[in-house]
Amino acid sequence: MATTIEPRTTTTRVVDAKQGSVLLRDSQQNVRDAAETLEIGRSLFNLLDQPEREITVTLPVELDDGRVEAFTGYRVQHSRVLGPGKGGMRFHPDSDLDEVRGLAALMTWKCALLDLPFGGAKGGVVCDPSVLSTGELARITRAFANALTPMIGSREDVPAPDVNTDERMMAWFLDEYERRTGKHDPSVVTGKPIALGGIPGRGESTGRGVALITVAMLERQWIKPRNARVVIQGFGKVGSEAAKRLHELGVKVIGISDVSGGLYNPDGLDIPRIAQSIQCQPPKLLREYGGEDAQRISGEEMLSLECDVLIPAALEGVITAETAPQINAKIIVEGANGPTTAEGDRILDERGILVAPDILANAGGVVVSYFEWLQGLQGNRWTLDSVRTQLDARMRDAFEAVVSESERRKISLRQAAYVIAVERVARAVSLRWSPM
Ligand code: GLU
Repeated sequence: MATTIEPRTTTTRVVDAKQGSVLLRDSQQNVRDAAETLEIGRSLFNLLDQPEREITVTLPVELDDGRVEAFTGYRVQHSRVLGPGKGGMRFHPDSDLDEVRGLAALMTWKCALLDLPFGGAKGGVVCDPSVLSTGELARITRAFANALTPMIGSREDVPAPDVNTDERMMAWFLDEYERRTGKHDPSVVTGKPIALGGIPGRGESTGRGVALITVAMLERQWIKPRNARVVIQGFGKVGSEAAKRLHELGVKVIGISDVSGGLYNPDGLDIPRIAQSIQCQPPKLLREYGGEDAQRISGEEMLSLECDVLIPAALEGVITAETAPQINAKIIVEGANGPTTAEGDRILDERGILVAPDILANAGGVVVSYFEWLQGLQGNRWTLDSVRTQLDARMRDAFEAVVSESERRKISLRQAAYVIAVERVARAVSLRWSPM
């Protein structure tokens, strides 16, 4: 039977599609500010600002009903000056080239800040996983791996999970890449299942790092973690792991939310119980939680809850000129990439609310991706204990470096993080491209 290629029907735009451009604009502004602080000249700045390579691919994929749909995929390699490109790939209906550009740049600065031998890259496929079957997701992932094969590799560009992508998809991605190249190269992708060369602790790593930075920020403000109240927006891979870790450390998580709504208990939520209960009820949303020990609140109410720390751990562009004035927290720890717009950031600053920036706070994932990449290249095995110990040490070192840079220059933590990262990349660029 002949198949027909039809326009995309499975995707819906649910939020402002310009979000990606805002993220790109803001990340470029942060680099511009850092370049000014570091007195970097225009031509060097242009090299830091412009992405090295951008790839847009069309992925014809057969759906379960026999139609063939053309999905669009992007991979932006922002910089490979310090090492192979590194960064996740997201599957989202609102993904667009500007968003992927902005996120790729964030990866460059994140890897540089954590002193990892990686550049920055990011991928996105415009699709809505909530309406796709497992088979359809597998075919899209394989088509994407196929299209990217000539431009990726353990020494070129190393994808990983991000929003709506997980270790199953990394397994399909690896398999397709290795079929195409005919070579075994497990370090072409990180966030793989352990049986395929993944590393213990990768799943919890971003959330664990967010929790560590949260505690470090509290201590810096002389707030005892045991007396602190934390609110987390987003209960996916990052938010739920951060919540579990904070709970384990004795910090009260009083509010959590996801796309289905929020749960609130001023005395602290029973996070392990909630996580376990929704785990057994796909699609694993908080509205499925039947416990009597939590009040139901809306996502908007969540953002304005009175608390010590607010952790936005979902998507970009949540703390804006409109929402920042309502925030009732002393500290923001950015679990998501780009959750605060430049206007939102300005308002938080005026209101004296401290922000631990994304490139520091959520770097735990890529740090453990680095361990996984090393493990694959060396052909050895890491233990969960050594992953955790080395992750914590790297996060703590980066936190200390950012805090002291911010104190030394009297700038915000975000500006300090960018100054450290931009300086490292700029030094490498000028050494590589200085005239003979
Ligand atoms: N997607 C994660 C991030 O935004 C991890 C990227 C990676 O491990 O390469 O940092």
